[in-house]
Amino acid sequence: MSHVPERPSEFVCQDCHLIYAGNVVGSGENRRYDPPNHCAACHSENFVALSEYSHMG
Ligand SMILES: [Zn+2]
Repeated sequence: MSHVPERPSEFVCQDCHLIYAGNVVGSGENRRYDPPNHCAACHSENFVALSEYSHMG
């Protein structure tokens, strides 16, 4: 199990490319970040992590 730095994950809407901060889920060692339920701008549910999005060019 690798240690995850204390840094909010960000997610990108795949349809309109808005960036959202992840929602904190859990606490302590179980804390993680989930994407929004849907995009506030275009109502898409398709999100990709910003770190992965950057690999797409
Ligand atoms: Zn969107």
